[in-house]
Amino acid sequence: MNQWERMDKEYVWHPFTQMKGWNENQQLVIDHGEGVKLYDTEGKAYYDGISSLWVNIHGHRRQEIDTAVKNQLDKIAHTTLLGLINKPSAELAQKLVEVTPEGLNKVFYSDDGSTAVEAAVKIAFQYWQHKGRPEKQQFINLGDSYHGDTVGAVSVGNIDVFHKVYKPLLFNTQKMTCPSFYHSKLAGIDSEADFLTYLLDELEACLQEHHNKVAAMIIEPLVQAAAGMLMQPKGYIKGVRELTKKYDVLLIVDEVATGFGRTGKLFACENEAVCPDMMCMSKGITAGYLALGATMTTDEIYDAFLGEAADYKTFYHGHSYTGNPLACAAGIAGLEIFAKEKVIENLPPKMAVITEHMQKMQAMKYVGDARQCGMLAGIELIRDKERRLPFEPSLLMAGGICQTARKYGLIVRNIGDVIVFMPPLASTAQQIDEMLCMLEQAMQEVFAQIDSHNEVKFSDPCAF
Ligand SMILES: *Cc1c(COP(=O)(O)O)cnc(C)c1O
Repeated sequence: MNQWERMDKEYVWHPFTQMKGWNENQQLVIDHGEGVKLYDTEGKAYYDGISSLWVNIHGHRRQEIDTAVKNQLDKIAHTTLLGLINKPSAELAQKLVEVTPEGLNKVFYSDDGSTAVEAAVKIAFQYWQHKGRPEKQQFINLGDSYHGDTVGAVSVGNIDVFHKVYKPLLFNTQKMTCPSFYHSKLAGIDSEADFLTYLLDELEACLQEHHNKVAAMIIEPLVQAAAGMLMQPKGYIKGVRELTKKYDVLLIVDEVATGFGRTGKLFACENEAVCPDMMCMSKGITAGYLALGATMTTDEIYDAFLGEAADYKTFYHGHSYTGNPLACAAGIAGLEIFAKEKVIENLPPKMAVITEHMQKMQAMKYVGDARQCGMLAGIELIRDKERRLPFEPSLLMAGGICQTARKYGLIVRNIGDVIVFMPPLASTAQQIDEMLCMLEQAMQEVFAQIDSHNEVKFSDPCAF
């Protein structure tokens, strides 16, 4: 154990981590990164197969972004947005308005995905008060939704393992069926088309009854990543947009995970030409360099907050590091790379490599569903495919495969029984192929152990 591992285990409490298992097992210390690889203190290289938890876009130590941050550092590291302007936050806001769906013309900055959602929830709530409809206070959300870990974001979230314990602290929401067909347990609905109809009918029934009390609906468009890469039927967000418009309910899309190219378009909404009333973004907004969140709104929403100081229509919300110049400088440089290198246009051959591997994995004995949306993929394990029987959670099967993959030089992470694959967009088709070959090796190794009836039990501190 090197000195950093010792210090870590003595002093650091890790996020989403059972610290008992963490402290009992050997852990990796990352020393540096280069491109799409991470290097540990021994100099061993690993592919960053989860984009450093879904944030990295153009690779590590991208010269253009490094330079932009260093140049900004030579001017000033931080100054407040309360009462002052800074250059990078103004410039990034202009760029964000340019690249996001039509109608999103204002940018409210915050610190991360959770605070971007927190701000959206409060803006929606306050908006209806300003519009003279203070009874519109409720929120509609999805089963298995995830919007961050602050209390407001947890209230509009719906993942039992993470959220159940906090229930007494949370406000109530109208919960819709999780739009993942693979996980649907609805009797008599056996095609994705029927499932889509069911979901939209359910939403319309809820809106019909409650729209006078509902401020907004919040969804993760196309992919519910944190729930385990759950994917929605084609046409779902388009249908949600039409219904929320029809019933005068704001639509908040949380693009914190799906934004900045992950689904094959710059924003997931673009896949179905959806223009939301608000969009939350973070993770990829600084290309994975620094913490920054943004909540974008329409003029209609922004204008409702205008008035004299004495009208008390101000949005009384803000964070100390709001619009941090270093983070915004990284964000501008990241967007410039998207344009200069045609990052989105170059994704299809990379996505095709993922598709090829998902088909291969789908044929494996213990893979229930290998699914993909653009550059996002999830491989869900299952003990018995026919009867849909899951592995004993205590086996930590997916976590064990992720742990084994490190041996082959790949960092990935699981969510329950789902192995998440989310490489930086900068990965080449060949690198993606190598990463997925490594993952397949790890899967085969673990599956062989199951087949030979060896006792397989992993103690992966990463798993939950
Ligand atoms: C990660 C995530 C969040 C929370 O973002 P943080 O920066 O971790 O606070 C919110 N929504 C979605 C969809 C996410 O994936």
